[in-house]
Amino acid sequence: MIDVYLYRSYTPMKKLSITSFINLMFIFISETAVAQMQFLEQRPYEPPSFEQYPSSACVDHHHPYTNVVDNLFLRFDGSEFNSNIISGDCLNGSSCYDGHPGTDYFMPFNTPILAPAGGYVLWASFSPAADPCPGGIEPNGEQGTIIIAHGNDYFTVYLHMTSPLEVEVGQTVDTGDTLGYAGDTGCATSTHLHFEVRKGNWFFDSIEPYVVDPFGWWGNFADPIEEFRGNRSEWLWLSESLVDDGDNGFERFRGPDWTYLSQGHNNDSWIAPSTQNPNESRHYAMWSPTIETGVEYDIEIFVTSGIEVTSGAIYEVYIKSENGTSTKTDVVIDQSTSQDTFVSIGTVILNEGESLAIILRDIVAPNSSGSNVVFDAIRIKPSTTSSINPTGSNSNQYGKIKLGSASPNPFNSSIFINYELKSSANVQVSVHSISGKEILSKNINSLLAGKHLFSWDGKNKLGSDCPSGVYFFSITSDAIYQSKKIVYLK
Ligand SMILES: [Zn+2]
Repeated sequence: MIDVYLYRSYTPMKKLSITSFINLMFIFISETAVAQMQFLEQRPYEPPSFEQYPSSACVDHHHPYTNVVDNLFLRFDGSEFNSNIISGDCLNGSSCYDGHPGTDYFMPFNTPILAPAGGYVLWASFSPAADPCPGGIEPNGEQGTIIIAHGNDYFTVYLHMTSPLEVEVGQTVDTGDTLGYAGDTGCATSTHLHFEVRKGNWFFDSIEPYVVDPFGWWGNFADPIEEFRGNRSEWLWLSESLVDDGDNGFERFRGPDWTYLSQGHNNDSWIAPSTQNPNESRHYAMWSPTIETGVEYDIEIFVTSGIEVTSGAIYEVYIKSENGTSTKTDVVIDQSTSQDTFVSIGTVILNEGESLAIILRDIVAPNSSGSNVVFDAIRIKPSTTSSINPTGSNSNQYGKIKLGSASPNPFNSSIFINYELKSSANVQVSVHSISGKEILSKNINSLLAGKHLFSWDGKNKLGSDCPSGVYFFSITSDAIYQSKKIVYLK
């Protein structure tokens, strides 16, 4: 696994991940077939021993450049905000920022800021900050700024650094090198790191603003940044298989009452009060795993026990297409049913060019009970589709039947399951509940060889609607039996 460090405190180590930032560069290298040495260091994954620093202001997708006040903040998921989403410290200056082109991370003064990837120092100086400062505040002296060129047109930018800067223009840095220290210089009202990823342009250009949102664009229409810039935001913090809250694939946004617990997966988790009012939403966590295309994966959640949890947590499953737009499926889960163990909430198969991410918010489903949403861990595991051939006589790779994809899964109205027969056969298709009760069964005789489709509308054999939950679709022919987990959500 590739792992990169952005910053850490003196002790213990802290990090922010931009794993896919690195992956992007590798992809670029391989696609263009440039004979080029890998210039970024790969490190084994090392979980931080303490909490990460929260991000408290994100890229404004309406106007991803400073000094534009339109009183709108187009959030990463496409929704508009024009009010404070962190109470108290959001007066056109935080997450309802107009024209914020980066991500702010709050951390103690003097926290060392580390290079997230190798590169070349393009800029390292104290110089006048933006004039005027966003929000019209007075600058706090000259701003400590560092800009690193990482190659392939990617640049990272670090603002509000305090003295001394530990690098000089022209110097080459390695992953993990200390660049300088978090401060409050320039247009900052409190100590934070303003971090930007830029693509295609390292200097400020108000005509052609530079920003790329490292949290990525989640909305179901084209990323507005593409309009300004010709590039688009990317999920730059992908992780492999397991995504825990200390991992580089986990990012979160915190407001008041976001509470750390020394329990749960890897002995850490977070809770936030649940709300049914979107306007009161203060918290979200995003998980983004790296998964292969064309392979079916289970999405599994882990929720620590001992907490009064919501019965209506909404896991938003996003699949981002090659052109940058996302489709979302909401999976509503009673968090008390998945405590202290990984429980599947659905399966997913990605096509070429697609990527997967999951968001959990403090907003819960209507009529749910329980006062907390737990943000703990997510695991993405290749699905285990059972295949039993008791006679052992069939030497074909998958015997007579090949069970294909089930989509959408989870499903809301109907699910479509593909299967393929190697030769003509009598088959039985059935659906069972998680406790093994037969919901539906159908014999189909003399079905021809080739591809077939089974659809299920969530109704039992009497035509009544089944409750939301996990079901198993199975197909049997002679001694061949295959099954697949499906999730019904109403
Ligand atoms: Zn900022």
